[in-house]
Amino acid sequence: MPPIPGSGLAKGLAVTLRTMTRKTVTAQYPDAQPELPPRSRGVIGLFEENCTVCMLCARECPDWCIYIDSHKETSPPAAPGGRERSRNVLDRFAIDFSLCMYCGICIEVCPFDALFWSPEFEYAETDIHELTHERDKLREWMWTVPEPPALDPGAEEPKEIAAARKAADKLAAQRAQEQREQQERNQADEKGGTP
Ligand code: SF4
Ligand code: SF4
Repeated sequence: MPPIPGSGLAKGLAVTLRTMTRKTVTAQYPDAQPELPPRSRGVIGLFEENCTVCMLCARECPDWCIYIDSHKETSPPAAPGGRERSRNVLDRFAIDFSLCMYCGICIEVCPFDALFWSPEFEYAETDIHELTHERDKLREWMWTVPEPPALDPGAEEPKEIAAARKAADKLAAQRAQEQREQQERNQADEKGGTP
């Protein structure tokens, strides 16, 4: 049966009318900023103070897009006869976001909590070379990293905190004991000195 002339137009208008009466879900970016979940993978921030230049992130990165340069510095021994101490000093830390596939492996494997996800995503560039972010820029991203979520009130206490509390309690008990002994000595001295 041949199509009724104008039926296509009527169908199209029906779709238009249906859509016009529905609630709009399109976000008017960039006039309206999207509400991103806190764990969004936008860009990687570097907390340089925590980085020990262990190279684990660079070795594990499947895209080989983390570039790290460092040199060794030695410091004299703390006590005479001791050994010199050496440490790695970071010279360069860069991530090429034109290669990065946002897998998050580098952040997962970093043993020293030096890398973090930031939900910031507005860093498109017209020059691809600009997508290699050097350490200063990676540090700047740290300001956009959201605070970690609050701990579950029913969660088990982290063993580090339990250990620190135990050590603090032990130290407090030791100090209290020393004070008691000192008081006893003072009292004994006062009695001994009384004619
Ligand atoms: S997110 Fe993945 S691809 Fe990107 S730098 Fe980290 S390990 Fe490499
Ligand atoms: S894994 Fe962490 S500590 Fe090691 S080099 Fe990478 S950022 Fe630095």
